[in-house]
Amino acid sequence: MNQPETDTRNVHGARCTWWDAISESKTGAHGLPGCPHCGGVLYEVATEAQWWEAIDRHDKHEPGYRALMEWARGNCYPNFDTLKRAYALYKKLEKDPDIKELLNGGVEGAEEIAFRMKKMTSR
Ligand SMILES: [Zn+2]
Repeated sequence: MNQPETDTRNVHGARCTWWDAISESKTGAHGLPGCPHCGGVLYEVATEAQWWEAIDRHDKHEPGYRALMEWARGNCYPNFDTLKRAYALYKKLEKDPDIKELLNGGVEGAEEIAFRMKKMTSR
């Protein structure tokens, strides 16, 4: 279910790592916004700016957290450890110029790679 564009809420998974603008969510259980991938329930903050304020606060204690969360946008992983492993793998893979080209080669290529990485990292 797409919300009107005036809806500034930013949402994140309660049981997965997905986060994005509420307009990217899908209607889940009981008609509430859910993760578009796993359907999981979401928590919300009022605005994306508020979301980044919290991320930046955390980044002071855990440098690199913001970069991780920028990468995590739109990615549903079952838990934070898996997200971190997928991100680490992405950082390794993007050092290869051919793979980097694929990674940056558009949504289709990125989705395929993300899907494969998820399979690899969730074993
Ligand atoms: Zn999810």
